Amino acid sequence: MVQGVGFRPFIYRVAVKNGLTGFVQNRPEGVVAEVEGPSAFVDAFGADIRLELPPLACITNIECTDLEIRHDQNFQIIPSDAKGHADVHITPDSATCPDCLQELFDPTNRRFRYPFINCTNCGPRLTIINAIPYDRANTSMACFPLCRECLVEYENPADRRFHAEPNACPVCGPQLTLLNAEGKPVETADPVKTAIDLLSSGHVLAVKGLGGFHLSVDAGSSEAVKILRTRKYREEKPLAIMVRTIDQAMQIACVSPEEETLLTSPQRPIVLLKKIQSGLISDSVAPHVPNLGIMLPYAPLHHLLLDDRFTALVMTSANQIDEPICTGNREAIDRLQGIADYYLTHNRDILVRCDDSIAFVADRKPRLMRRSRGYIPQPLHLKETYPPVLALGGQLKTTHCILKGRFAFVSPHIGDMETPQARDFFHESLALMKRITESDPQIIACDLHPAYYSTQAAQELPTERIIQVQHHHAHIVSCMVDNQIGGDVIGLAMDGTGYGTDGNAWGGEFLIANETGFQRFGHLQYLVLPGGEKAIREPRRIAASLLRTVYGASWQELAHKLNLIPDQVQVELFEKIIDGKIHSPMSSGLGRLFDGVAALIGLRLSVSFEGQAAMELEALAAGSTAPPYPFDILRNDDNPYIVDTTAMIRAILADLQAGQSKTIIAASFHQTIIDVFAVMAGEIRKATGLNRVALSGGCFQNKILLEGAINKLRHSGFDVYSHSQVPSNDGGISLGQAVIAASMIKKGM
Ligand code: ZN
Ligand code: ZN
Ligand code: FE
Repeated sequence: MVQGVGFRPFIYRVAVKNGLTGFVQNRPEGVVAEVEGPSAFVDAFGADIRLELPPLACITNIECTDLEIRHDQNFQIIPSDAKGHADVHITPDSATCPDCLQELFDPTNRRFRYPFINCTNCGPRLTIINAIPYDRANTSMACFPLCRECLVEYENPADRRFHAEPNACPVCGPQLTLLNAEGKPVETADPVKTAIDLLSSGHVLAVKGLGGFHLSVDAGSSEAVKILRTRKYREEKPLAIMVRTIDQAMQIACVSPEEETLLTSPQRPIVLLKKIQSGLISDSVAPHVPNLGIMLPYAPLHHLLLDDRFTALVMTSANQIDEPICTGNREAIDRLQGIADYYLTHNRDILVRCDDSIAFVADRKPRLMRRSRGYIPQPLHLKETYPPVLALGGQLKTTHCILKGRFAFVSPHIGDMETPQARDFFHESLALMKRITESDPQIIACDLHPAYYSTQAAQELPTERIIQVQHHHAHIVSCMVDNQIGGDVIGLAMDGTGYGTDGNAWGGEFLIANETGFQRFGHLQYLVLPGGEKAIREPRRIAASLLRTVYGASWQELAHKLNLIPDQVQVELFEKIIDGKIHSPMSSGLGRLFDGVAALIGLRLSVSFEGQAAMELEALAAGSTAPPYPFDILRNDDNPYIVDTTAMIRAILADLQAGQSKTIIAASFHQTIIDVFAVMAGEIRKATGLNRVALSGGCFQNKILLEGAINKLRHSGFDVYSHSQVPSNDGGISLGQAVIAASMIKKGM
């Protein structure tokens, strides 16, 4: 990664320092440098490059070749070779660096408290780009001509701001404004100070960030948090918060060394951390869950805004439910009407919508739940070269992916394709990916689901060929690509729902998979989802279905005893729906089994967002160990193995009746699922000799399940692969689809 990170001036400095002559130049294939001098000096140059690399640059490989001596008299930075730029990657947005931060709070510095301070080591990148190459003229900084002082910095190879494209100062750069709810400017000499006053008196502020607006309130004030929740129609889904320093993060949450590294990285994702009951943060920030989503400031404005008066600020994406994050000033004022009291905004346009990324640490490795701001558009390195493919992803938490040579470019998180605004964002993001990769692949990959928006969109795009990929196959290959492995693997694909080749909703899948195909070796037993989508919002429906399956006629009595369903009329209605499978698909999804068990034990009968019941079941089990429940593996003829959980459900009910604590039941349930994984992986190994297991699907965002599966499988001698670069949820689907389609093309399939 060499563009927009100060790489050429860095090479210049290192060459001059080591007494070498030669040149450095941007070329279509990347940065090319030639150095000339005594071999000891050249060796020292090579060593310095590795040691002193600029913070945002990244070298994958260095090779040395002897060249003919040119007898250069000095070392020069030669202007770019103008033809083509596509292989020189654009870098992601990066958090304010320590040098800029020091200047930001230095009263003698000309950028003292200037909210747009940046340098080649930090600042906006992707989110201000209009076109490539990454030059100021192609960014939203084009309308701010550099003043004399800024120009001198920009042109001086020895300066930290040499070719820092968003370079600016209070004289020549963007400015803040504070607007009221109607979008009218508020008279103030210091918009930041006024904004802090407003926040501390309980107001909701929309704050313009790097990839979009945030909605912000004082996270210490339950009243302010509740106002925000009511206005945003967001009852219980946890809200992300921002704290000023790592020390403050440690006052409100447990932070391991790996989590600290992730929190303070230039990508600055939201990191899920275990809450400490400190009393400093309102309980309504993240009710009923043991974690807090915490991030550190990543734009200079955040550093200014996080005044001593707050422990933390809520910083949640500014949008209406199911809509993408707001970026434009006008757009924000229109779309956030009735939510924001004030807008802290500015005149530097956001050109690429990019939500905050979300990460957690499991098995001491960082894991992404949402890969967006800070990571995009950094490509993933592939183990081989593939033909160009565009993959359109799934329906929820979706992304696109473009394959180009040995790189996979995954789009920013687009979200759920449920609203017209989300669909516009889908197309906006498609255009972006094509622009930054300078490509327009004619092979399109998409999901099998006929009703997904992306599947329909594939039909409408100009294309040579559409390749539809089964959802869980895509999950497993996504995990393989994440780990740069190929060949046959045992694939455990565990999620809520994905369209199966038999038309049912899959999601508890034990596959034998490779990059071009898969076999369904086994799956969790099918369960009727009473009312389909309704069952996702009301886990008690799934519990009813479990009871009906396991107990037959006597289920009604149990449903009453467990207070699952309020009245007899409904009980009978449910029975009809379940038995007749009326508007009720069959699902093998592990996520749905989690929902069902959560309802059975009375934890959650209905939810306000998908996955809430499963999250709370995980929360309940966290920190406890308990023995697994029994289960059976059924096999008949050549059909897939079926994991029958009847015995487990009976045991759970027996525990409930015996007054066993719900914490222990939840822990036993988790342990059972981990055992199921190990037993099924063992069956596949017996049948095939395969020993590598790939774990994918949204259920592996459950830390107990992920760490438990990794440990148990490793203990059984398996090589275990899990996600770290792309999410295990449906945000990773497009990557799997792309590589499957490209591998098929490559093999002439
Ligand atoms: Zn900087
Ligand atoms: Zn200036
Ligand atoms: Fe999925």
